[in-house]
Amino acid sequence: MKCDYCDLLERNDGILYQDSEVVIAVKETALTPGQITIFTKEHFTILEMIPDEILAKCATVANKVGIAVFESLGAQGTNVIIQNGIPAGQKIPHGALEIIPRREKDNLPLQWKPQQLMDEEMDTAYLTIKQEADKLVDIGKRQEKKQVVIKPEKGKIEAEEGKENYLLKSLKRMP
Ligand SMILES: [Zn+2]
Repeated sequence: MKCDYCDLLERNDGILYQDSEVVIAVKETALTPGQITIFTKEHFTILEMIPDEILAKCATVANKVGIAVFESLGAQGTNVIIQNGIPAGQKIPHGALEIIPRREKDNLPLQWKPQQLMDEEMDTAYLTIKQEADKLVDIGKRQEKKQVVIKPEKGKIEAEEGKENYLLKSLKRMP
């Protein structure tokens, strides 16, 4: 059985925009008028399964949709919500972003009260996440380096291509 988002797509129901990667849709049920759902064209169950470049595109699209909602519906704010995994309230097993237009006193119960946690719990969580975050800094650095190769100056592209050709030629020469 198809998931609800793949089904929407197949029936072309409430689809505002789609390209080869991203879909913008309006669902039958919404928290506030003008709520917009952004999901990937390909079925990915959770956010972590979405390839980086498609996820980045979803974020850019979400931002543009947010601007449209501010300008066309006169929203005074937006909530951008991702329910990732069943414990986080995800009902449809297809990663998505919800843009919820907000107005002052719209009575939407999206506020929550922070709870006082044990210091020990907080410290352990902090240290664990800090270790993981340090690894992310490395990933960021690697991506920066990669970008230099992807978008080099003109002279550099030729140098890179030359190098690649040279490598290919030497590979071909190998018995
Ligand atoms: Zn799906």
